[in-house]
Amino acid sequence: MGVPFSPARNYGRIVVTGVGVADTIGDGVGTGCAFAPSVIVPAMHAPARTMPANHLLIELLPPSVLNGSPTPGPAAQTAASAAGNKERGEAAPRPAIIQDTMGVIDLPYTRSVAEETDPVFRRVEHVIPRVEWPLHAPYVAAINRLKRERNAVILAHNYQVPEIFHTVADIVGDSLALAMQAAKTDADVIVLCGVHFMAETAKLVNPAKTVLVPDLKAGCSLAESITAADVRLLRERYPKTPIVTYVNTSAEVKAESDVCVTSGNAVQIVEALGAPRVIFLPDEYLANYVASKTRVEIIAWKGHCEVHERFTGNDVRRFREDDPSLVVLAHPECPPDVLAEADYVGSTQGMTEYVGKVASGEARVLLLTECSMADNVSGRYPGVEFVRPCNLCPHMKRNTLPKVLHSLEAMEYEVTVAPEIAQRARRAVDRMLAFSQPRD
Ligand code: SF4
Repeated sequence: MGVPFSPARNYGRIVVTGVGVADTIGDGVGTGCAFAPSVIVPAMHAPARTMPANHLLIELLPPSVLNGSPTPGPAAQTAASAAGNKERGEAAPRPAIIQDTMGVIDLPYTRSVAEETDPVFRRVEHVIPRVEWPLHAPYVAAINRLKRERNAVILAHNYQVPEIFHTVADIVGDSLALAMQAAKTDADVIVLCGVHFMAETAKLVNPAKTVLVPDLKAGCSLAESITAADVRLLRERYPKTPIVTYVNTSAEVKAESDVCVTSGNAVQIVEALGAPRVIFLPDEYLANYVASKTRVEIIAWKGHCEVHERFTGNDVRRFREDDPSLVVLAHPECPPDVLAEADYVGSTQGMTEYVGKVASGEARVLLLTECSMADNVSGRYPGVEFVRPCNLCPHMKRNTLPKVLHSLEAMEYEVTVAPEIAQRARRAVDRMLAFSQPRD
């Protein structure tokens, strides 16, 4: 298709130059790995899944699903706009990610930058190749200086690229860890290197702060799978049933919910509600996993993560045939046949801790989650060998060092939530955080 990609990393993964171009020119749901077929796990759609007895697939389908025309996400809108330009005979705008990739050469790697960033490089040289450092170092130096000037803190999700995760981030973790840290921070500015719903959550839990995202188009297929109107329809259909919502949703959806959860605390919170059944939104596979761990009846929605749904049980069996001693860890957003094959199922935080338990031996670990997770965990456990089936999240990969720098320089792009929505959404998030506080 003529989209540029380059095998850049020297530690076992392919970096696509222009990750995110996929959904600029495609159908809005592609992943970056679509351009690196040598590393992609084939997107085989599994046959009918076996669901636990207490799992009901939602029977109330909203018009957006029935018509097969969900509200287009930002990426799909970009593609539509490009198509409109073509019809009008106008030049299509260049995909932003290509501009950013070229922007990497803008800042020089001087002697003073080298000296200033040398301590950082020494910390990360096992995860960032030396040959790449002159590209990253000028941005690392400028970002860290600007962070101090702005009294800013950078929160980075586990799926961020190593050059963000290991060099400029102040706090790293999964959605729950980031939300808890956002609530506590004294900084004036929070730069959220993740996706849009995470920035909204940070704003909800700490409304006095300025919350910025490096790229406004960093969305999420799960968050886009459901709208506030969908949740209101469910409330009408099941008026007495609590609505439990995964944090991977918009503030509007959270505002219609009773409580939020993450993959790490979903089972605990569903049980703590004390209800015989709950509506669990929007991830069908996470709902299925929760149903397998509790006697509470779960009514699910049919949302999926475009990254995790690509894994299949066959993939895992093939890896195991090659190495029967492989330790397999899977995120609960993966389909049930994948989870059935895994040694451990849990959130990204849970997976990191589990790797810590096996790290003493000469373990080979297969992480069935987003590609950068293995890069970032391997930084902590250099003795463990990671097998890397590469499924990139195109939304997470919109964040780059040049964009983080721009964000701090221009104080863009600020994420706000309308007060009447924020008030109700905050209640659902605060309830989750209250359930998640460490107890004596
Ligand atoms: S990995 Fe999946 S759930 Fe996470 S942001 Fe990307 S699309 Fe959304």
